[in-house]
Formats: sequence, C-alpha cells, structure tokens
Amino acid sequence: MIEPTTGQPCPATVIFNLPEYRVLSAVVSALGVRRITLESTAVPGCPACGVVSERVKDRGLQRLRDIPVAGAAEVLWRKRRWFCNEPACPRGSFTEATDEVPRRARSTRRLLHALAAAVVVAGRAAAEAARAHGVSWWLAQSALDAAAATLPDVDDLAPKRLGIDEHRYRSVRWFREDESSPWVRIEPWMTTIVDLDTGQVLGVVEGRDSEGVGEWLFARPLPWRLGVETVAIDPSAAFRKALRMWLPRTAVSVDAFHLVSLANQAVTEARQRLSHELRGRRGRTIDPGWANRRLLLRAAETLSDRARTRLREVFATDDPTGQLQAAWEAKEQLRTLLRSGSLEDAGDHLRILERLVETAPTPETKRLLRTVKKWWNEIEVLITTGATTAKVEANNTAIKNIKRTGRGFRTAAREYYDTAAFAAQPGLTGLGRAASHEGRRPLASLICALHTCSTRSGGVVPGRTPWVPERTPSRWTAQRSAM
Ligand SMILES: [Zn+2]
Repeated sequence: MIEPTTGQPCPATVIFNLPEYRVLSAVVSALGVRRITLESTAVPGCPACGVVSERVKDRGLQRLRDIPVAGAAEVLWRKRRWFCNEPACPRGSFTEATDEVPRRARSTRRLLHALAAAVVVAGRAAAEAARAHGVSWWLAQSALDAAAATLPDVDDLAPKRLGIDEHRYRSVRWFREDESSPWVRIEPWMTTIVDLDTGQVLGVVEGRDSEGVGEWLFARPLPWRLGVETVAIDPSAAFRKALRMWLPRTAVSVDAFHLVSLANQAVTEARQRLSHELRGRRGRTIDPGWANRRLLLRAAETLSDRARTRLREVFATDDPTGQLQAAWEAKEQLRTLLRSGSLEDAGDHLRILERLVETAPTPETKRLLRTVKKWWNEIEVLITTGATTAKVEANNTAIKNIKRTGRGFRTAAREYYDTAAFAAQPGLTGLGRAASHEGRRPLASLICALHTCSTRSGGVVPGRTPWVPERTPSRWTAQRSAM
C-alpha cells in the first residue's frame, strides 16, 4: 500500500493520471491481470446539504471501466460511504462521487470521451471503437448519444460570416407509399451552415433547396439575422433565393473553388466536343488532348517546364481550331480574376476575359462568361471579403465520414445521432460548438425533426414512408412499378 505524501502524488498515481484519484495498489494477479485499486481524493461533500464529511461509514469496491493505461487493466475503486456531519440533514449518509465518475456511473469520463473521439474524430465505426477499448457497443453508443444530447443553442451565437454548402451524402434511394403507389427517386442531399470565422457547424439541413435553408434562417431571431454581414455560397440559385428572402441586407459571396471548377468543366467539355467534331469519336490515349486531359486542368503557375512544353505541344498538334486553347486561356484568366486584390483589378481582369471570349468564342467559354457576369456582385463580395466555403467543405467531409461509419445502422435515428454527436464535439473536432437546425432539443424530437424534413425534401407524405425502405428495389423494378 502506498501512503499519500503531501505535495507530490506517488509515481503510480502520476502514471495512471486519473484526476481526483490516487492509486492505492497496483498488483498482477496469478492469471497475469493487472489490478489497479484507486481511492478518491475529492472532498466528500454531502449531495443534500453540501457539508463536508469527515467520518467514513463503510468502504466497498467498485469495478470501473477505463481507458487502457499502458495496456488493459482491471480498475477497482475503493469507494467510501460517509456519514453526513450536519445533524439537521435528512440524509444520514452518502456515497462519494467525482467528476470523472459521477453518481451511478460505472465508466470514467475519459473513457467516454475517448470512445466519442474515436468515432467522431477518427471516423471509426462505433462497434470498432468499442472493441478497441474492450467495452460493449452499447457503451460506445451511449457515449455518442451523450455527446449529441448537449447541443448548444445556435441562437445564442452571433455569427458575422456564414458559409452554406450542399453535398450528397449517400447514394440515391427509392421510396414508395405502399404496394400500389409508384416508386419515388430520392437524392439524399444535405446542406451545412457554418460560422466562417470559427468554423462552427451551426446547422445541418436536409435537402438543398431554397426552402430548407430558408426555413432554417427564418427560425433564427431577427437580431441574429441582422448580425450576419457576409454569406459564402457555391453558385446555387436556390441558396441565393433563400438569402435574398431572409438575409436581404447581407452581402453574398460566391465560392472561388466552385467557379474554378466550372471553368475546368468548360475546358473538359470543349475538349470532348472538339474530339467528336474532329474525329467523330471520343478521345483515346493516342490523342494528345486526351492524354494530357489532367494537365489542361492544372493551375498554370504550378506547371513545370516539361509540363508547359507538353501543353504547348497539345495546342500545336491537337487543336487545329484553337478552341481548346481558348477555353484553357479563359479558365486561367478566370483564376487570375478571382485572385485580384481589388475591385479595379477584378474589373480589368473581367474585361480581359470578355476580350478573350469575344476573339475566340466557343459555346463553353461563352457560357462560362455568362455565369461569371450573372454572379458578378457575389464575385465582388468574394474579392472584397475573401469569404469562401472552404470551412463548410471540411465539415461536410467530416460529417459524411460520420454518416458512413454509422453504416451498420440503417435508420435515420442512428445517422442523426452520429452526425449530431460530431457536431456537438467542440473540443474533439476543433471545429467548435455546433447545433442542429432545431437548436437545443431532446434527441427524440431531433429524430422526429429529421423525419419531417427528410420527407419534406423528398416530397413524400410525412409519417408514411420510412427513411430507408425495407428493401431497396433495383432501378429496373422501380421503373417497372412506376409504369
Ligand atoms: Zn447532508
């Protein structure tokens, strides 16, 4: 038995490192199991009256589940029962409790935190995290549930810059009301709303229409909405509509990444069209344009001398009309434009882009220029504020990861738990506190909320159709039933 000394705790306590506990003994049993016995060092205050007790009534041993400290070990807490010192207190005695192991808990808080972190940060499945920590799936899952249940109220925050982005988080599903009704195709889209300054997830909305985002914004108090100065979105008319409606005084910025990918798409489409016009077929390895298709999409300033030479060869040998080069130059000009330091520079770059498209017009570059002009106000905001949706994308990837690892559980509830757990983990993700679009609500109603909005975006009557059909039909069966 190691007696406590004043000041420094004993080496075993330092190594075990469980706050408010000291190691009484650490032995290896005949079977080779390490057994660590602990005692609480927390001040024993009566839960009823708060008076600190000094008299031990009795002691018992409680087995604790804990993280493996240098390997698995059996952890026992020599738990004391204390007499209450206050004669007037109705409670005669009480059992001690600590922050790490609250009343009635059988697992340490650091174990629950580690389990949630394994799923939320590392993206491991709950079952796998449970196995790795030597605990049941139920415990891992309840750690996630507990994390999800502490969603803060989004309305208490005052974000100045928002980012809104959509993404499809799983494959297409088919639904139908009953045996006789037709199958309905559902694309499971999700929209994430993030505070761009802190990276916090503020809301996750099912679907990607203006209605979903609009409803979410409408649910926020007026001062909250007036406080938002800038919103970054991808070039989506639906989001722009929702923002004009509910945040009319907010500057909207369009994400540079999405614009550049539109420009890349224009280059690719031009290359494909030219191949068909010139050769009457799609590109092959023997065509320089096809062989260097990825080179065409690379940023010009990142190209090596060799790559530049190869690109020049493509334009010289595989681009008799000069249209491929025109599309490539338009793409590069748009990239230069988006990097402008001022609105004057941006205006100059736009005029250069216009000249490029006028002198060598192709259907693809003309369309690209039209898009740029349509989104010019938002591009100006982007250049002035630099607000992009990059942080939203990062969150989307993480949320998708969570959804994916919850794959064993084919219910909306399970997915929602895990996503909410992710969103609720400020310390774990480094992304800050988060909330569902429903704000602080019990989990049961969060799940109901998900059902309502998922069915809304899918155009299916609420309450009738499950989120996941019992049997997902093949496309062929679905089409046949639809006839
Ligand atoms: Zn008391």
